[in-house]
Amino acid sequence: MKLSDQSLLKEQCYVGGEWLGEPADEVTNPATGEVLARVPRFGSEEAALAIGKAEAAFTSWAAKTAKERAAVMRRWYELMVQHREDLALLMTSEQGKPLAEARGEADYAASFVEFYGEEAKRINGETLPSHRDDARILVLRQPAGVVAAITPWNFPMAMITRKCAPALAAGCTVVVKPAGETPLTALALGVLAEKAGVPAGVFNIVTGDAKAIGEVFTSHPAVRVVAFTGSTPVGKLLMKQAAEGVKKVALELGGNAPFIVFDDADLDEAVAGAIICKFRNMGQTCVCANRIYVQDGIYDSFIEKFAKAAEGLKVGNGAEANVQQGPLITPKAVDKVEQHIADATEKGARVMVGGKRHSLGGTFFQPTVLANVTQDMAIAHEETFGPVAAIFRFRTEDEVVRYANDTEFGLAAYFYSRDVGRIFRVGEALEYGIVGINSGLISTELAPFGGIKESGMGREGSHHGIDEFTNIKYMLVGGL
Ligand code: ADP
Repeated sequence: MKLSDQSLLKEQCYVGGEWLGEPADEVTNPATGEVLARVPRFGSEEAALAIGKAEAAFTSWAAKTAKERAAVMRRWYELMVQHREDLALLMTSEQGKPLAEARGEADYAASFVEFYGEEAKRINGETLPSHRDDARILVLRQPAGVVAAITPWNFPMAMITRKCAPALAAGCTVVVKPAGETPLTALALGVLAEKAGVPAGVFNIVTGDAKAIGEVFTSHPAVRVVAFTGSTPVGKLLMKQAAEGVKKVALELGGNAPFIVFDDADLDEAVAGAIICKFRNMGQTCVCANRIYVQDGIYDSFIEKFAKAAEGLKVGNGAEANVQQGPLITPKAVDKVEQHIADATEKGARVMVGGKRHSLGGTFFQPTVLANVTQDMAIAHEETFGPVAAIFRFRTEDEVVRYANDTEFGLAAYFYSRDVGRIFRVGEALEYGIVGINSGLISTELAPFGGIKESGMGREGSHHGIDEFTNIKYMLVGGL
């Protein structure tokens, strides 16, 4: 991996404005198996040290004017834009996604820093009508304190900025623990934060033992918010741990997104939307279509077009030109994909396309399309997190809404329809935090992203994203 600015490749952690630790845990390229770098294996002690640095930096960062914080964040954003190619290459190298998607993520990730820098100036309070004529009611929004963030490997850059940018804008300081698979992008963000003039201790990164670091993050008295994106079991564990100190938690957990195509949909648009929604990041996003429900009348023509498009996806090393599907993140991810395909075919599903490991070896997998999928199969209830499109047939609107909601998850749902009545009926009936209508892509810094039910709590993006990192203070001013 040859970056144009090699100083972005770090093998140390960023704590209190210093680069600390010794290279230890290997970071590998899932496309080639190449060891890209080694990062420190920090544990409880270093996690506590980083939180201490964040705590020490909090008062002065919080005391800065919004305009001052915004200026620092603007510089950080501009450096991300300037180093877009290197950041994209880092992500493709450690995570596997195609370069075009990695560039898209670099832009998306940077957009949070831009947006929240601007938003810092609009963290408004209120005055409310008073219950007494000699008193006034003021409502202030103050930074919550030290934020501990734990992020996953599927979006190595965006999941960090989506949490840290609103936190920093609000006046909080942050310690981040990135996923062990993808720490290099995180450390590069540390290099750029330092260059941008983010004061020492305001943004810290620790890599290493997830469990030990997570325990300190959730128990240290200085931490006031635990922000997490990852699997539902780990999210529940962190919530339990954080309960002891009654810390705020913001959780973006698993999904099981239904993608519904009604008879009245624009078929070509629906196929294109389903392909992008299903196969983006090799199906490894929590908002990827996991269950594609197609209405009776267009089922056959949808499957034909969709299978053809899936078959045409180019698989390979994401760093190579025109590749659309990289490797999966780990052998374990491939196992899960195989289990879901085996379970579905045993119960009567038909493999239309793919279904096997790719001849490229490693963790490459063929884009797969399964037809005749039914509600009794594992894929209907568990997130596959891989390139398997499971296609179900349905007859009525009521039936499909029932199927779509028959899950403990509630992150994203999608449907295609040209009927305005149906758009409102179904949009309102779906028990999800996000509903994409006639669109397979929903992510933007301008909208609130987040789930209900076991998909989590809290929102990231838009002005709502700031709420996780501020406390409301009510001041009664009497004696007037
Ligand atoms: P996945 O299975 O997709 O890797 P995880 O939920 O295990 O999803 O990982 C998301 C993030 O949570 C990663 O940064 C990972 O290191 C971290 N993590 C995993 N287990 C724990 C834990 N017990 N405590 C704290 N963080 C954890």
